[in-house]
Amino acid sequence: MPELPEVETIVKDLTSNLPGRKISSVKVLRTDSVAFPSASNFARAVTGLSFIRIFRRGKYLLFDLSGSAGLVVHLRMSGRFLLVAQGAPTSKHSRLSFLLDDGQQLIFEDMRVFGRIWYKPPENSFEEIVPSLAELGKEPLTDLDAAYMHSAFKKRSQAIKTVLLDQRVIAGIGNIYADEVLYLSGIHPLRRAMDLGESELDTLVRSIRQVLSQAIALGGSSLRNYTNVRGIHGQYQGQSLVYGRTGAPCLTCQNPLVKIRIAGRSTHYCQLCQRQAADSGKNSR
Ligand SMILES: [Zn+2]
Repeated sequence: MPELPEVETIVKDLTSNLPGRKISSVKVLRTDSVAFPSASNFARAVTGLSFIRIFRRGKYLLFDLSGSAGLVVHLRMSGRFLLVAQGAPTSKHSRLSFLLDDGQQLIFEDMRVFGRIWYKPPENSFEEIVPSLAELGKEPLTDLDAAYMHSAFKKRSQAIKTVLLDQRVIAGIGNIYADEVLYLSGIHPLRRAMDLGESELDTLVRSIRQVLSQAIALGGSSLRNYTNVRGIHGQYQGQSLVYGRTGAPCLTCQNPLVKIRIAGRSTHYCQLCQRQAADSGKNSR
């Protein structure tokens, strides 16, 4: 499932290819991939517009188009973008195809069909078209600090793993990187968010930045079918500390890593390095 580093990688790829390109025509191959408006109105509205800027908020991709229009995309489980030559064979999972004025096609592919794309008319804001954008929490790479975490966590009695996945608290962390962050922080995934001490929150903020920046530097994860816009797999998977390594030795203590389920999500951790209780003294407020 694409998380912040994968979406950021797509933003960079698209930013080096799309700005200035005009959309000559649009084919909607699967109507339920278009969340707003109807598929035929979507194609009509977008045809003839140019790409100005591509950016990210949480796991959402946002596009500024000419004439103050825009697009919002959520990749959900398996959505991805590919840039291919006009007339190149496309997969049966292609949901939308944008023919560009330089002869390339921008393809939105989505095997599981949970991904969605919205058109933003010039008279509306992105948040008016996709209200959940307005509810997103802080951006982990730029806006996060221990004081924010403290105020966001102090009334949350859920497991820290669950709270890290809550997009209203921190935008962009999903299941893979939540496990990586907690391992790097030495925090047990079932600890209650509200029980974390100040130094643990500091460590958590640092780990979040480190894990996400490293994954971006490696071009995102190659888990599942994630690739960049040229179909190249990211390299993070081979670098994961705990995710997908059930039974393999912990990289710190060699104890076999375990997998449990927390709120329905598979969770990988080390029973020795990630303790249930805070170390007495040094981590408490
Ligand atoms: Zn360990």
